[in-house]
Amino acid sequence: MTAADTPARSRTAPMVSVRGVYKRFGAAEVLRDVDLTVEAGHVTVVLGPSGSGKSTLLRCINHLERADRGHITVDGELIGYRRGRGVLHELKEKQILRQRGAIGFVFQNFNLFPHLTVLENIVEAPRYAFRRPAAEVEEQARALLERVGLAGFADAHPRTLSGGQQQRVAIARALALRPKVLLFDEPTSALDPELVGEVLDVIRDLAAGGTTMIVVTHEIGFAREVADTVVFMDQGRIVESGPPGRVLDHPAHERTRAFLEKVL
Ligand code: ADP
Ligand code: MG
Repeated sequence: MTAADTPARSRTAPMVSVRGVYKRFGAAEVLRDVDLTVEAGHVTVVLGPSGSGKSTLLRCINHLERADRGHITVDGELIGYRRGRGVLHELKEKQILRQRGAIGFVFQNFNLFPHLTVLENIVEAPRYAFRRPAAEVEEQARALLERVGLAGFADAHPRTLSGGQQQRVAIARALALRPKVLLFDEPTSALDPELVGEVLDVIRDLAAGGTTMIVVTHEIGFAREVADTVVFMDQGRIVESGPPGRVLDHPAHERTRAFLEKVL
């Protein structure tokens, strides 16, 4: 990849831009020529069968995986590279951590630190990786706990919480870095059915507040209600994308139709 292939950093860039991204693991081509644009303040829901490349796409955006080809920008900033003397140079780990700080990631299995309290989970990264003042970070963490409906739980340990509560802590933790975009990878798939709603409510509130998000989920009702754009992936490709009313109610492709019949 050369600098000439990539757009200049610009103020008018979409919040997330994925262009021509390919990724393979050994012989398996997992992402094939993926293009995705998410405007600031918009919510994109990604649907698709297991193994279609949804998690890998999110992981490439957050640089947990490195795309083999193509490029990704977040708020106009190229992920994983910098330009210099007309060519692209791979960023050092420290810069990659800084970029990751601007991209919140919420995992299916919460990934909370089990040995830390709820409050400690939230303050850990802003406090130690980003060296923000303790008092400010703690005040923000308490406000975030209130926002996700867990004001009384600062000193609890994750194992004492329900899955829905743990996932809400994980969302508060992601928000503590004041990300430009939040990525959710099946945030309710590990939850008992009765706990799904409380997590979707939090994500819905974030959407109403203008947070830019990419949400991988099988919750079609949520997609219909919250998404600006629904993307359907299959076998590493984006098969179709558009407003929820079109993709969910009038899918253009047989594969989308077959998938929706299974999950609805
Ligand atoms: P999805 O999230 O849509 O279920 P994934 O992105 O997790 O799909 O996986 C897409 C394909 O890539 C699957 O076939 C999966 O087995 C494979 N894959 C994902 N991560 C790795 C990895 N680290 N090493 C090898 N294969 C992987
Ligand atoms: Mg996945």
